[in-house]
Amino acid sequence: MTETYQNWIGGKWVPSASGETFESRNPASMDEVLGAFPRSSAQDVDAAVQASKDAYPDWMNTPAPERADYLLRVALLLEERIEEWSELMTREMGKTLKESRGDIQEGIDFLHYMAGEGRRMMGHTVPSELRDKFSMTVRHPIGVVGLITPWNFPIAIPTWKIAPAIVAGCTSVFKPAEDTPLLATLLVQALEEVGLPPGVLNLVHGYGEEAGAPIVEHPDVRAVSFTGSLEVGRRINERCGALMKRCSLELGSKNVMIVMPDADMDLAVEAASWGAFATSGQRCTATSRLVVHDAAREEFTRRMLERVEGMKVGSGLDPEVELAPVINEEQKHRILEYIEIGKQEGAKLLTGGEELTGDGYDKGNFIAPTVFDDVKPDMRIAQEEIFGPVTAIIRTDDVDEAIRMANSVDYGLSAAIYTHDITNVFKAVKELEFGIVYVNAPTIGAEIQLPFGGMKNTGNGHREAGPQALDEFMEWKAVSVDYSGKVQKAQGID
Ligand code: NAD
Repeated sequence: MTETYQNWIGGKWVPSASGETFESRNPASMDEVLGAFPRSSAQDVDAAVQASKDAYPDWMNTPAPERADYLLRVALLLEERIEEWSELMTREMGKTLKESRGDIQEGIDFLHYMAGEGRRMMGHTVPSELRDKFSMTVRHPIGVVGLITPWNFPIAIPTWKIAPAIVAGCTSVFKPAEDTPLLATLLVQALEEVGLPPGVLNLVHGYGEEAGAPIVEHPDVRAVSFTGSLEVGRRINERCGALMKRCSLELGSKNVMIVMPDADMDLAVEAASWGAFATSGQRCTATSRLVVHDAAREEFTRRMLERVEGMKVGSGLDPEVELAPVINEEQKHRILEYIEIGKQEGAKLLTGGEELTGDGYDKGNFIAPTVFDDVKPDMRIAQEEIFGPVTAIIRTDDVDEAIRMANSVDYGLSAAIYTHDITNVFKAVKELEFGIVYVNAPTIGAEIQLPFGGMKNTGNGHREAGPQALDEFMEWKAVSVDYSGKVQKAQGID
C-alpha cells in the first residue's frame, strides 16, 4: 500500500484542493514507490500564502534568539535521525548512503550555524553629524517568501533556505522538487515536532508550472529564493523583475579543475574522480571539465581511467557502490543525448558512454561513468551543463590559456587548480571567474560557513550559506533618534 502524504498549511496537514496526487519513485528500482504526494495548484498556494501572511506579524515580533531556538532543536532531532533518513534519501533520490549522510549533516551544520545567527543579527551604530542624534541600522524581515528547491540535495538545500528565512523573521511557502517530496516532508514534520508556530512555514508539494509558478506570481510573496536550472531560473528572474520582487537564484554551472604539471598526481586523480562522479555528477559543483597540462596529461589520464573503470555502479544502498543511478528517465535520456553530441562533435570517448542494463540495472536509471578526451573548449559538452556522470578532458600547455579556457563558459560556480607553484595559485585565485575557488581541493565539498553561489549565469549575485545567507531575507532599515528637541538639518539637506 502506498502511503499518502499531505501539504502543511497553517499548521495543518491537508490534501491538495483537487485531491490529486503524484508518486515518488526509487531511481535505482523504479517499481518502488515511496509515497503519493499532493499535486497542488494555485488554489493551494493561495491558502499557503494566506497562512504565511496571518503568521507574519507575530513571527516578525518574536525575538530573533527565540526564532533561532527552533533551528537548534530541529538540528538535534536530525542528529538522532540521520541513519534512518539517509536510507530513505538514498531510496528516494538515488545517491549513495554516504552521500545521503553528508547531505543531512550539511543541513544539521547549517541549522546550528543559523541558530547562532539569531543571537548575532547585528546592525551598526553610525555617527550622526548632528548633536543629540543617534543613528543606527537595524535588520528587518522582508515578509512572506517563496522557497523553491531542486532534488539533488533534498535536505541540505531546503535547510539553506528555510533556516535563514525562519531566523530572519520571514514566513514562507516551501515548494520542494517533485522528485524528492518525502525528504522534504520529513524535514517539515521535524519542524512541526519542535513546535514551530502554525503558518511560519508552509509546505506545498507539486510540479513546477502548477505549484512553483503560482508562488512566483503571488502578489503577497515579497521574495523568491530559487535553486535549480538556468532555464527555469531565467523565467523566474523575468517574472520577479516585472513584479518588483526580490529574487535569489542559484543555478547550474560548468565547473572546472585545472591540473598543472607540478600537481600532486594522487590528489589530482582522486579529486577529479570524486568531483566528477560523486552523486553521479548531479551536483551543481560537479567537475564537468578537466583542463590538463600536456606535461601531466599522459599520467593523469591513465590513472584517472584506472580509477574510474574500477568504480562499482549500482544501488546507493550497497556500501561498495561509488556511482549510483541518475534521478529519473528523462534525465537519463538527456545525459545519453549529450554523450552522443560529444561523439558527433569529435571528442574521444575514453570510457563509459552507455546506459547499463542487465541484472541489478534493468529497473533503474544507470549510466556508466564517462570520460571524454580531446575536448575543445567550444564544444557543447564543454559549454553546457549535463548534470550526469560525464566529464571532459581539455588539453592545454600554459596556465594563462588554462584560465582563459576555464572562464570560457557562461557559468561560474566552482573552479579548482592543482599546483604547488605559488605564482599560478595567486593568478588562478585572482583571475578565475567563479564564486568558489579551490587550490589543491576538489570543486565539490563546500563548507556551510562560507558563502555559496556563483558568478555569471550561475546566479544573480546572491549567496547562500555563510552569514550572507540572511541577506536574501532581510531589509536594512536606517534609524535615527533625535533627542535635541529641535528640528535639526543635516549638511547638504535643506
Ligand atoms: P529545475 O529547474 O527543473 O527545478 C527546480 C525546482 O523548480 C523544482 O522544485 C521545480 O518543480 C521548480 N520549477 C520548475 N519549473 C518552475 C516554474 N516555471 N516556476 C517555479 N518553479 C518551477 O531543476 P532540477 O532539475 O530540480 O535541479 C537541477 C538543477 O539545479 C541543475 O541545473 C543544478 O545545477 C541546479 N542546482 C544549482 C545549485 C546551486 O546552488 N547553484 C544547487 C543544486 C542544484
